[in-house]
Amino acid sequence: MFRIALLLLISLDSLGAVILQYHHVAEDTPPITSITPTDFAAHMDYLQSASFNVIGLPELVDALQSDRVLPDKTVAITFDDAYQNILINAVPVLVRHGFPYAVFVATDQVGSSSAFLTWDQLRHMQQGGATIANHTASHPHLLRQDESEDEASWLARVASEITRAAEAIDSQLAPAPRFFAYPYGEYDGRIIEIVERLGYIGFGQQSGAAGPSSDLRLLPRFPFAGRYSGLEDFKVKVATKPMPLVRNTISPLESDTDPLPILTLTFQMAETPYSTPTCYGPNGDLLDIEIHAPHFYLVKPQSPVPVGRSRYNCTMPAGDGRFYWFSQMWIRRNPDGSWYPEP
Ligand SMILES: [Zn+2]
Repeated sequence: MFRIALLLLISLDSLGAVILQYHHVAEDTPPITSITPTDFAAHMDYLQSASFNVIGLPELVDALQSDRVLPDKTVAITFDDAYQNILINAVPVLVRHGFPYAVFVATDQVGSSSAFLTWDQLRHMQQGGATIANHTASHPHLLRQDESEDEASWLARVASEITRAAEAIDSQLAPAPRFFAYPYGEYDGRIIEIVERLGYIGFGQQSGAAGPSSDLRLLPRFPFAGRYSGLEDFKVKVATKPMPLVRNTISPLESDTDPLPILTLTFQMAETPYSTPTCYGPNGDLLDIEIHAPHFYLVKPQSPVPVGRSRYNCTMPAGDGRFYWFSQMWIRRNPDGSWYPEP
């Protein structure tokens, strides 16, 4: 009981951290997954000058697992896909600042072309303190069940993607924490259960700060790429706090059966009521907020979510110009049930 009371007192703000997600750090790679070396260096310089507490991903996960309070403005840095350009354009900057980082590796891609890091390079980075973790073997769209597969064989393939990557990492590198990043941020209830059963902490691509109500199978990360990689955008996102919600993991595929998906937000009880959240839909449209009780809201769209991956982003003032932030991903197939092509 004491622990619950204590948690209610401290959990509202101070049990959170922000996880940054990058892919390419380069000028000449697809903008949608790239940040320029100049912008990346500006992000890191800002973390230093604004006195952010940059910690390794294992330390952050350990704090979340044990409800340990982290200093305000705590951040962890991650990269997906292990591109060669991070070693050239990001690692020197990180080393200069003394910032730890994690790399999620799709193991079939390692050394497969000059675009990807090699095992020797990853080993060297790990020896320098980097966390090297699991991003499947072949980087598939995990939700895309093949026509030739029944559900059981599809889910077995999902599990084997993770275990096959783990075998490669275990055989090439020193023991690494069981961390898993979903390719394309795609998941549903069945896939996160596999991640949990295999003993992994999961990382998504839905934005928001991680906190006590985050699902450890699906921790949020802020992606920084393309038009979302500028310094002003970064300053807002890196200072966010976890929305003080009661945990509620919603499958992004709900929008596949209902293109007007309703998001329910249940807030933790607080002495001082929070202000009403503001939520934006995939087209930048303001979403309707229906208040059902002082701490229970329904977030409703006015137009269908588009085919593809999209999000509802909800924020709420947290004082000092900062925001609570929570995001829900939606995934909608073509009307005929076929999968959309990737951009
Ligand atoms: Zn990836």
